[in-house]
Amino acid sequence: METPIKPPSVIKAKIVEQRAEFISDPVAKLRFIRRETAPVEPTRWEKFLDAHKPKVTMSLGVAAAGLVIFAIASSQRSVKARSLPAVAYSTGNPSAHEPGSIWMVDTRGGQEIYSNSLRIETRFTIPLGEEPTWKYNRYTKGSKTPVEMKDPVGIVFHTTEGLMAPFEKEQNGRLKFIGESQVRLVRSIRAYHYVVDRFGQVWRVVQESEPAFHSGNSIWADKDWVYMNLNHSFLAVSFEARTQGEGEAFVTEAQKLSGKLLTDMLRAKYHIPFGNLVTHGQVSVNPDNYGIGYHTDFGGEFPFTELGLPDNYQLPPPSMTMFGFNYDETYLAAMGDRVVPGLAKAEDMLNSQAKAQGITPALLTRRLREQYRQIFQNLKKDNKNEVSN
Ligand SMILES: [Zn+2]
Repeated sequence: METPIKPPSVIKAKIVEQRAEFISDPVAKLRFIRRETAPVEPTRWEKFLDAHKPKVTMSLGVAAAGLVIFAIASSQRSVKARSLPAVAYSTGNPSAHEPGSIWMVDTRGGQEIYSNSLRIETRFTIPLGEEPTWKYNRYTKGSKTPVEMKDPVGIVFHTTEGLMAPFEKEQNGRLKFIGESQVRLVRSIRAYHYVVDRFGQVWRVVQESEPAFHSGNSIWADKDWVYMNLNHSFLAVSFEARTQGEGEAFVTEAQKLSGKLLTDMLRAKYHIPFGNLVTHGQVSVNPDNYGIGYHTDFGGEFPFTELGLPDNYQLPPPSMTMFGFNYDETYLAAMGDRVVPGLAKAEDMLNSQAKAQGITPALLTRRLREQYRQIFQNLKKDNKNEVSN
């Protein structure tokens, strides 16, 4: 989403124009005008307030198509109160694309080579188990009984949060050593399906047909299904990186490049919808206090646009709209401003649901949490041997 920018007032623009008349050097004149008319960035708090005013976000023209679609969808939802929200809609990235057909061209020397130039390193791939272990944690909306599924339906993006060396030529030996150690560690705990190291090498660790222990307590949904504890329904792609402060780029260009190739291949193979490409911080929940974002990795810095995807940070978290989870200041601080519009949408949707049912938002929240609690108890019984993360 574009940051809402306040235009300088018309009066100020006039004054600047008049003053600029007295500057003869054209470069200096241009610099002066640029400096004087630079858009004023609203403060973080102003943006937060703006985003939390119902409907004001849209009248500001904050984001074009995505929000308009949302506005229409949410007004329909308030009529059909019991039907739960769909989250798979476009969030307005004009470069978002369907990957088309991508196939494996060859395997050689511990590598798989794909038609879109993707290379997958398979030296550390865990051999398939004897028993199929993929489970069925997908539900139709409103149901508490899981429904069978054969293929993964989405991707959760993670960061490895391990040791980092400066990304410099002189550090090459260390970078290689750390990268390989990370892959070995991930292998020992079956943490992710894929690791993208800092040179952009893609390592398959857990096979796509088996679960990895990447998103213990977690919730996501698309227009048809609700997914609980995504180890059994979403693939995990982890970038060798550490989540840092807001606004800091920390993924290398090589990682973006091969992250895109890998995402395209997986999307093409499993027909993954845009809305099911999310970060751990968006799906992770804490069932003890109904907080979202028990894990907040990738913070607010996942390069959705550079991977040719819509900015899914703008999606309202299904944990809030369907099960009454909530966020706090710590979550906001960890995830940054990019998630604020999605959280605001989720609040709007909850309020509309409550209104349509003629109950208070607090009562609705209690009811939704009770629904979650029932599914959660069953999940705990099924998955008691899993590493939870
Ligand atoms: Zn994670």
